[in-house]
Order: sequence, then structure tokens, then C-alpha cells
Amino acid sequence: MSDQEYDLKGREIIVVGGGGYIGAHVCKMIAENGGTPIVFDNFQAGHKHAVKWGPYVTVDLRDRAATLAAFQQHKDVETVVHLASSIEVGEGEKQPEGFYENNVSGALNILMAMRQTQADNLIFSSTCATYGETQNMPLLETEVQNPFSVYGKTKLAIEHMIQSYHKAYDLNYVTFRYFNASGADASGDIGEEHDPETHLIPNALKAAAGRGNRMKLFGTDYDTPDGTCVRDYIHVNDIALAHIHAIRAMDEGLSQAEVNLGTGEGYSVLQIIKAIEEVTGLPVPYDVGPRREGDLTQLFANAARAEEILGFTPQHSSLENIIQTAWNFHKTKWGI
Ligand code: UDP
Repeated sequence: MSDQEYDLKGREIIVVGGGGYIGAHVCKMIAENGGTPIVFDNFQAGHKHAVKWGPYVTVDLRDRAATLAAFQQHKDVETVVHLASSIEVGEGEKQPEGFYENNVSGALNILMAMRQTQADNLIFSSTCATYGETQNMPLLETEVQNPFSVYGKTKLAIEHMIQSYHKAYDLNYVTFRYFNASGADASGDIGEEHDPETHLIPNALKAAAGRGNRMKLFGTDYDTPDGTCVRDYIHVNDIALAHIHAIRAMDEGLSQAEVNLGTGEGYSVLQIIKAIEEVTGLPVPYDVGPRREGDLTQLFANAARAEEILGFTPQHSSLENIIQTAWNFHKTKWGI
């Protein structure tokens, strides 16, 4: 399937967190496949300027009544994509209360509202951080889930709530365990713009462009070939595309699945820096610092289940394309 092969036939789909990095790409792909994304967002981390393909409702998920009211405004919608969450791993360690409230209570409020409005299909963005420290790479969905970070713990709690709703109330769901979302849409219009930015690729691009500080490399003493952490980087448009496959699979009767979203390829921090230097033609100035709290040594996916169950394989996730599209987005944003 190319990016535009499943006809959503004008269907409305609620995208919670549609003003965020991944949410905006999901919305664009829904629109490109003939659907209308309805964005629910509190715009604390998301951006109104990234909502371009349908209407939005400003709503804070922690407010149960307001969340229900937002769903009731769109009560004919059957399919919900939930991507809103606190994501900064370090902040979760310091402020767990806010993380549990935003992520876990927020998700419960969505589930309650979906039940009341009979929206029966949910696609949820979970994370490979739910697996915890293990040497069993590539990671299978059946791996023990023992999250190390508060972030991972909140996502696992939500996975469990969704499973309970499936069992008790027949909710259909696909839970995606994202590996490292990266890259940007080829248009240069939407991309990664977190504040503060904590992710490797945008931080390394910033340092290469001389915008801000030198990059900090968090730890060179990991048990990996070059001592730096290994991650599986998947292009955000592949993540978006997988959501279209999930909608189709649920239309065809899929009622429950946990699915890794990665490429199966692991790259170390130093390999990413080298690839950025090759694509941009600029050196990445960096200093080696201590390990960052909450970071696992290596995480990369066994990506077979996404292909088996959803017929999905990544189309956009060569490292070169990831870095080139992220670089184009940042250059457009910075006017260089
Ligand atoms: N990283 C780094 N410097 C940064 C940001 C990230 O060395 O400024 C490292 C981080 O320790 C991890 C990898 O890059 O090993 C990917 O981190 P990122 O925050 O992008 O994604 P995560 O895997 O934490 O979701």
C-alpha cells in the first residue's frame, strides 16, 4: 500500500493530541486518505499552527466533564486515535504525579467518554519503553513488560486499562508500541518542535547549525559496540501510515492487537551523529556527559507482527531520509 491507498470515504476520526509532532503527521495522512481528522488538544505541548486538515476542540483530558463534552460534540465518530501524553522521560522521574494525572487519568477519561458515546475503535500510542531493560533484541511484543521509567509505567498502565475495556466492554483496539519517532513530512511544513527539545536528532541538528548549545552525548560507557545507546528510528510518516493500516484492519474485523512500530534496525548515538554530519555536511559539536536517568542500553524492534497483522512495512525510514527530512524541516523553520 502506498501512503494513499485506503479510502476513508469522508469519515471523521478523532485525533487526541493532533497538534503534536506525531499527531499532525497522522492528521495529514488521514486527510490524504480521504478522511477528516478532528483534533482534540489542550495545546500545551501541541501547536495550533500544526492543525491544518480539519477542525479542533481545545480540551484538557484531565477534565473529565470537558472531555466527555468534546466527545459528545462528535458523537457519530467511531474511531479515535489517542496520542496525547507527557513524554519527557526526565520530567516524569521528577514530577510523577503530573505524569500519572495527564497520561493515566487522561486516558481513563477518554475511555469513559468513548464508552458513553459508543466510539468503539481505539488506536493508542504506547512505547517500547514499556519493555524495560532486557538483552532480548530484537524485541518481540511478547517480551516481559517491566518499564524502568515513570513514562513507561504510565503507558503500561494505559495498555492494561485498554485491555480491560476490550474484555469487559468490547472495545476494539490497536496499541502501537512506538520506537523512536523521527524525521518530518517532506513538505517541510510540520516536524518535531518540542519545547524543551530533548530528542537526539533535533538536538544534534541544532548543534550542527550553530543554533543553541553544543550537543550533550549522554554516556559512552554502555555495553554496546561503541559504548553509546542503541535505538530504532522510524520515520514519523511511517508511524502515520501504520495508523491508516490499523484503521483498515479494524474495519476488516481486527478487535485487539499490540504491535511494535519500528524498523528492526538499531543505530547508536555515535552512528546518528555521523549520519547527520554526512547529510548536512556540517560537524556536530558535542560533549560527552554522564548517562541520562531513565535511559535503557538498547531498544530495537522485531517488526514482523506489524507486517503480519496489518500488512505494514516502513516505506520512509532509511536513516538518510529521516535525517534529510528533519534537516529540511528545521532549515525551513529557521529560515536558512
Ligand atoms: N541523547 C543524547 N543527547 C541528547 C538527546 C538524546 O545523547 O541531547 C541520547 C539518549 O541518551 C538516547 C538516544 O540519544 O540514548 C535517543 O534519545 P531520545 O531522547 O531521542 O529518545 P528516547 O530513546 O529517549 O525516546
